[in-house]
Amino acid sequence: MAFCHSNNLLLYMAQPSFVSQPVAQVIHTDIYQLGDRLVLEDVNFSIQKGEFVYLIGRTGSGKSSLLKTLYADLSLKKGSVQVAGYELNSIRRSDVPYLRRKLGIVFQDFQLFMDRNITQNLEFVLRATGWTDPMKMKTRIAEVLIRVGLSGSLQKMPHQLSGGEQQRVVIARALLNEPEILLADEPTGNLDPEVSEEIMRLFLQINKSGMAVLMATHDFDLIRKFPQRVLRCENSKVVEVTTPV
Ligand code: ATP
Ligand code: MG
Repeated sequence: MAFCHSNNLLLYMAQPSFVSQPVAQVIHTDIYQLGDRLVLEDVNFSIQKGEFVYLIGRTGSGKSSLLKTLYADLSLKKGSVQVAGYELNSIRRSDVPYLRRKLGIVFQDFQLFMDRNITQNLEFVLRATGWTDPMKMKTRIAEVLIRVGLSGSLQKMPHQLSGGEQQRVVIARALLNEPEILLADEPTGNLDPEVSEEIMRLFLQINKSGMAVLMATHDFDLIRKFPQRVLRCENSKVVEVTTPV
């Protein structure tokens, strides 16, 4: 392991400066769930700026645990994980909110405040992440809603939107702070196939602008229709999938 680390260091040092660093790099990492349960062992992969990666695997295989580790919701016991410029091995608790500003997190269940309209939902996140200027907040909210195709929904309550539209708001919320990578955990899990495809097209469109995406999914139809790099959790390992799923 010591050899591999020093080898990585040499590779890093040998790179010319124009080669960008990965947005996520996981080296010899064990992933533990709460209660010290080992879920994934010796995980190794990296995601480059602007890459789109699916994360597949049977239920309980560790997809969500891996994503949670990347956004520092599960602590790291062994290995090295670097995300959006933060070294998670040595990250201080007080720095975790700053790490999360550089990540966009999208879950299957929409987790919007149902008693606030769309603008208020987004405003809440902006205030919580340090924004104070009302004009700048208004502009940013309008920008992200345009980006997800919901510019007419500023004053609507979540219940006035369809499931697909609510998921668009969640994606808009994830974009507020211009993250380097979107971490999406089964973002189409509650949507019918047609709406799932629309959401997928939105992810791809966002990805085209240079934002990396790591998306856990069970939806093989989507993967076949929109082929991208695939990582699979199986038998406590994460493997690169090179054959069509
Ligand atoms: P799914 O496809 O069903 O979402 P998954 O691949 O995301 O599954 P995880 O949720 O990461 O799988 O679960 C991996 C393992 O960790 C499972 O054995 C699960 O029981 C366990 N686990 C998940 N959440 C917790 C928790 N909060 N506390 C303890 N163990 C957990
Ligand atoms: Mg999961």
